[in-house]
Amino acid sequence: MPKVDDGSPVIERYNPSRPAERVGAVAETTVTDVGAAVEQAAQAQLDWANESLAVRSATLTEAAEAIVARRDELAELLARELGKPLADCDGEIGFAAALVAHCVATAPEVLADRSIDVGEGRLELTTLPYGVVAAITPWNAPIVLAAMKFVPALLAGNAIVTKPSPLVPLTITAVLKELSNYLPSGLVGVVNGGVEIGQALVADPAIAKVAFTGGGEAARHLQRSLADRLVPTLLELGGNDAAIVCDDAELDEVSVERLIHGSLLTSGQVCMAAKRIYVHRSRYDELVERYIEVARRALVVGDPMDNGVTVGPMVSEAQRDRVAALVRAAEQQGGKVTELGTVADEALVANGWFLRPTLVQGLSDDAPLVATEQFGPTVPILAFDSDDEAVARTNNSDLGLAGSVWSSDEDRAFAIAKRIESGTVFIGTHNRSGMNLRSPFGGVKQSGWGRELGDSAVGEYVQTRAIHRPANLGTGRAYPRTEQ
Ligand code: NAD
Repeated sequence: MPKVDDGSPVIERYNPSRPAERVGAVAETTVTDVGAAVEQAAQAQLDWANESLAVRSATLTEAAEAIVARRDELAELLARELGKPLADCDGEIGFAAALVAHCVATAPEVLADRSIDVGEGRLELTTLPYGVVAAITPWNAPIVLAAMKFVPALLAGNAIVTKPSPLVPLTITAVLKELSNYLPSGLVGVVNGGVEIGQALVADPAIAKVAFTGGGEAARHLQRSLADRLVPTLLELGGNDAAIVCDDAELDEVSVERLIHGSLLTSGQVCMAAKRIYVHRSRYDELVERYIEVARRALVVGDPMDNGVTVGPMVSEAQRDRVAALVRAAEQQGGKVTELGTVADEALVANGWFLRPTLVQGLSDDAPLVATEQFGPTVPILAFDSDDEAVARTNNSDLGLAGSVWSSDEDRAFAIAKRIESGTVFIGTHNRSGMNLRSPFGGVKQSGWGRELGDSAVGEYVQTRAIHRPANLGTGRAYPRTEQ
């Protein structure tokens, strides 16, 4: 394990475009320091919960402005440590700031005390923050996925201790430090490390809720660890989203480019990417031809710092090798693999953790590339004969994060969407361009539970407390009647 001069361990990060280039390091948190961070958060939370929502909102807004003021520097750091195109990294900072504004605007209604008319009785509903929330986040959108937790949790009156992914820890640690400059000392903690530190964090008895984004395997381990203490969780897990392209879909250049980015943004390393494309057989050849033609212009593989580049490296050598092996296996199973896009810088791409995007034809639904989450720059395309068949094949999965329907008839698209077992269905697009801050986001089936974003995002971080004086107190033996 690398160490700094005083002997304490650090997590180092190297640039996935140029693996020899060290981007930076963060101190690795010890298990003892995890306890200290949670203890400080618990202390700070007591006063924070007693602040008015107006004060909490103003404080977070000020912190968001300070983070946005460092936008260029943070976006560049993120692009260097993660390998996403610079514009995407800049978008993460902008999204986090917009999320603060959205939650500040929606929190008053969600957190307001309410009186329910129960005739002569009295029923008031109030909200209670949990206390200290643990956030555990992945590497693929470190700022956005952490902000989706710390913004609503803090507004609701909680403290939060975040454990980012050790693969991409630098920018999110800088963002959380900047945030903490504006908040009471200890209210926002960050602990850096891998599974051991994640487990130490959630095992702390002061942790009252865990908000987790990541893979299913980690989520199962987490749930087992939390079972004895019955700690509630919000789980945002993986997906194997299908895009259903109907026989009447628009396949003009812009639509096809949207479909391409729906799968291949961030080199396909997005939970809600279109990971399998089902197209009506009557449009299959046309779509494949168009897809390859449009991708030639839309997918430029190279240095994420270059303006024209849309596909950077994968996050690590291990991820690159895992996805490359899936593509090789697909080819061995008879799949036809077509390389997509162009390469802007051959030498860079040969030496970094890049994987050329590919479209794969000729697979069956049980091929691993179709049946599992590839999380990389490759996408299978499959033909179907009827809407019923497309819906059945889409739903034949344990996962249900998102999906999309492409049809020139909006009502037909919505009708098909209502048959899809997933938390979100996009119409005529897929992936982040289909998101809206007002649209709750989360999965069904094994893609998780709980919702982030939406008008009641803050509601995930409070529990309802009902205070009730019945109309007729009586002897205490009667069942309630609705008019009470
Ligand atoms: P991962 O599950 O390996 O790790 C996620 C985080 O959990 C990391 O911080 C990791 O250190 C920590 N962790 C792992 N095992 C743990 C354990 N047993 N106890 C405590 N902490 C643990 O996932 P990843 O590789 O970082 O991210 C990719 C996965 O995340 C994909 O499956 C992707 O679909 C999913 N994801 C989901 C969403 C969503 O919103 N639904 C968004 C982004 C990514």
